[in-house]
Amino acid sequence: MTLNVNEIFYSIQGEGYHSGSPATFIRLAGCNLACHFCDTRHTVPSIPMTPQAIVDEVKQYPAELVIITGGEPSLQPLSLLVDMLHEAARRVHIETNGTRPLPHSIDWITCSPKKATAESPLRIPYYVHPSILHRADELKLVYDPEGPDPDSIAARFHHPLLYLQPMALDGSDNAPATVAYILSHPHWRLSAQIHRLLNFR
Ligand code: SF4
Repeated sequence: MTLNVNEIFYSIQGEGYHSGSPATFIRLAGCNLACHFCDTRHTVPSIPMTPQAIVDEVKQYPAELVIITGGEPSLQPLSLLVDMLHEAARRVHIETNGTRPLPHSIDWITCSPKKATAESPLRIPYYVHPSILHRADELKLVYDPEGPDPDSIAARFHHPLLYLQPMALDGSDNAPATVAYILSHPHWRLSAQIHRLLNFR
């Protein structure tokens, strides 16, 4: 059994609650949505890797924290990989759009539901699988002033931490609107993408 891997790299989490934490990132290939602001290079060829080969590479890096991201990582078989990472004394976090169930063994779920587009294979805006509504530790929304009120999306979840992130598109940065929303809804926090601000990966 293999997983399609875009890249494995060592860096610092730049977003959300664990922002600033050193982590090994496993970026898996493929997504079931097609967001217009997506910064994932979906055309980069993926490499099929066994869970053992992934863990061997992760063990080259000293951080306890491993973040599985994508694309949409739930599209690939994760259970064995997560178990093997635990055996290697790693803590496993995942970043998901929330549209599919996840293994119960994952230590932290960051859910970032997306609007989806006409091109998306899944066309239900901000759809989240019921199991993720209950399990998400952190809700991280890319703020869209034209979209639904972030509070209306958060209300479907079972008390996650709430992070709002500006949409970083060339020439259409909506950071001021994001900050204004947070100031008037102070139960939200700003996810500032420090890797972009400080220009690291
Ligand atoms: S869900 Fe994430 S990875 Fe998938 S298209 Fe949207 S932004 Fe890109």
